[in-house]
Amino acid sequence: MLNFSTLLPPDHQILAANEYESLLVVLAYLIASAAGYTALAMADWVTNSRSRRGSELAKLIGAIALGGGIWSMHFLAMLSFKIGIHVHYAPLQTLASLLIAIAVSYTVMHLIGRESLTAPQYLLAALAAGLGIATMHYTGMLAMQSVAVQLYDPLLVVISVVIASLASLGALLLAFRLRGRTGLRTLWLRLLGSLVLGFAIVSMHFTGMAALTLAVPIGFEPDGLVEVNQHLELGMGIALGTLFIIMVGLLAAWAGERFHAQRLRLERVSTTLDQITLHDPLTHLLNGGSFIQTVDRAIGQARTGEQFALLMLDIDHFKRINDSLGHALGDELLIQMAQRIRAVLDNDLPLARYAGDEFSLLLPLGQRGDSQPLAMRLLEQLRPPFELAGQRIAMTFSLGIAHYPQDGANAGQLLRSAGLAVGHCKRSGRNRSQRFTTDLQRDADDLLSLEMDLRHALAQGGLHVAYQPIVDPDGAPVALEALVRWQHPVLGPLSPERFVRVAEETGLIADLDGWVMRQACADLAQLHREGHSELRVSVNCSALNLSDRLLPQSIARTLQAEDLPASALILEVTENALMHSLNVAVEVLGEIRTLGVRVSIDDFGSGYSSLAYLSRLPVDSLKVDRAFVRTIPKQSNDMAIAAAIIAMAHKLGLNVVAEGVETGEQRQFLQANGCNFMQGYLFGRPMPLPQLRTWLQQPAIAAVPA
Ligand code: C2E
Ligand code: MG
Ligand code: MG
Repeated sequence: MLNFSTLLPPDHQILAANEYESLLVVLAYLIASAAGYTALAMADWVTNSRSRRGSELAKLIGAIALGGGIWSMHFLAMLSFKIGIHVHYAPLQTLASLLIAIAVSYTVMHLIGRESLTAPQYLLAALAAGLGIATMHYTGMLAMQSVAVQLYDPLLVVISVVIASLASLGALLLAFRLRGRTGLRTLWLRLLGSLVLGFAIVSMHFTGMAALTLAVPIGFEPDGLVEVNQHLELGMGIALGTLFIIMVGLLAAWAGERFHAQRLRLERVSTTLDQITLHDPLTHLLNGGSFIQTVDRAIGQARTGEQFALLMLDIDHFKRINDSLGHALGDELLIQMAQRIRAVLDNDLPLARYAGDEFSLLLPLGQRGDSQPLAMRLLEQLRPPFELAGQRIAMTFSLGIAHYPQDGANAGQLLRSAGLAVGHCKRSGRNRSQRFTTDLQRDADDLLSLEMDLRHALAQGGLHVAYQPIVDPDGAPVALEALVRWQHPVLGPLSPERFVRVAEETGLIADLDGWVMRQACADLAQLHREGHSELRVSVNCSALNLSDRLLPQSIARTLQAEDLPASALILEVTENALMHSLNVAVEVLGEIRTLGVRVSIDDFGSGYSSLAYLSRLPVDSLKVDRAFVRTIPKQSNDMAIAAAIIAMAHKLGLNVVAEGVETGEQRQFLQANGCNFMQGYLFGRPMPLPQLRTWLQQPAIAAVPA
């Protein structure tokens, strides 16, 4: 019977009993401390556990070790109490007090497992734990049955609850402080903490005991200290059992810690590996592969209606930097660029060096966002010159934008759309931004199918060459311009202007021009054999081929194969084309001329004609663009330009060919101005070889008054 009052029941007298078996008291203290240590060690395991099951197991083992420890400390301390009356422990209440201790400890372990606690939460948790421990204590006391009535001093009971709460608060604070830390210092702190904790738990118990007064019926005589020995054995048994549980708990905590350390090491290794495999080593941005994954993940996790913009930024003429300043400074430019882009973006936006000089980023737009402001800010940020090896170099950029979901359903499609937009920027003069449109997609599709058809035509002999005569002032043929023809199986005859562009964009141009040259040389050799040995052949050459240093050799081989002298061949190169890779082109053209092949500038006057640069080019003649001839005699300006070009070319020692001569008036004007050769419908249209043969028998000169 518990009685929270100091009032002595009638017929009772106070039993003076205040002796303790000291061995059991010491054991009780050690067990309380060991239980505290286990709980602190277990706290780490609880927080480190990634899986729910792991953390629940840790909580349970911790709760059994801590609860069992506190409980057995309490039980031992009671056994150490020498009261000299026969005491019986009711099993149900004893078990209940043990379960209460474990339940309270479980709550404490659960709290330790949380991320953090606020101050009021700490206090509340400590109070709950204190009350729980006190409940365990007094339930345990209830289990102690004897002839005596238990009287409790309420004030001391309250003090015992306060001590239990303070001990719990200390335990919580310490557990949070030491959580996740390792090393010798932590070990010592944990040890010291558990000794203090043990002391607090023991103090609570003895305060509770101090609150107790035992009252026995008047006349009752204590029967000596006989039961103490029995209690000692029981106590030792319980102590050993508890220590065993605590040891198991400690072992589990130690194993958990080792396991955690091992996992941390593995995680570090895997983070380093991730860093290597997911990032670009130069700029430390994401690489292409991981960017695709990141974009797909973001799209996969997006809420309905959420939009994104994928921006692709490409440096204009990056190759020039690499070629002129070297790759190290090219790399430096990429690094500086990455930093500038990063500075405009929120840190968590995925940004990648997608490939080479191409940067990509993903921008969440919410429900109906606009990517234009960011695009403008990016280009603005990149506008100031870059400092490279003491030089200030301004760069321009092409920016392509694709929106999810309109322009692509996944990373691959969005990148393709943004790439098409970048391609469009490049074609329309660079230094701009462009949003993807379906027209771009259609163009790309057309380009792809034309490319495949052209490949097929090249391989299967689907192309032909037409020849257009070039005549001297008397109208006598001196050369033939070889012009490629393609009868598309579905689209019909296609203009070379259209499919030559396709060949240039898809890398087929070298094959195409090589084929035309071989065919033209073979046909010319045949014509020579047929008696037209005065004829030359003029072959168009795309500027892209002039960056191929092997071109002179391949031309020499073609001539050799047909047993033609180099002087029989003229190479036509458009002047715009020469403006681009001037240095290499000039060298290659120089070598071709050394072979004896003549070089002519095609469509002269249509581009950025520059006299200064014309004088540097290794050329023999130029072809006045059709545009100036067409308007003769209506446009006096054009006529003046045509006349000036002829005069200037002659000053530079070059021959002049006029293209597109369609009328007698044009012919007369050109002749009057000293034009050396002419080409146009007036003399003959481009025609297949058999038709040309007929034409050669009877050139239409007679019909044309000179
Ligand atoms: P181009 O080299 O300036 O060729 C002359 C173009 O003018 C030819 O057009 C020809 O048919 C046309 N033409 C000739 N006389 C007259 C005329 O009196 N009036 C008018 N209105 N046009 C005339 P085509 O055959 O359509 O070729 C267009 C362009 O395609 C060529 O311009 C050339 O730049 C390119 N091209 C043709 N064949 C080849 C080739 O084998 N390789 C390369 N790379 N380009 C080629
Ligand atoms: Mg031409
Ligand atoms: Mg031309």
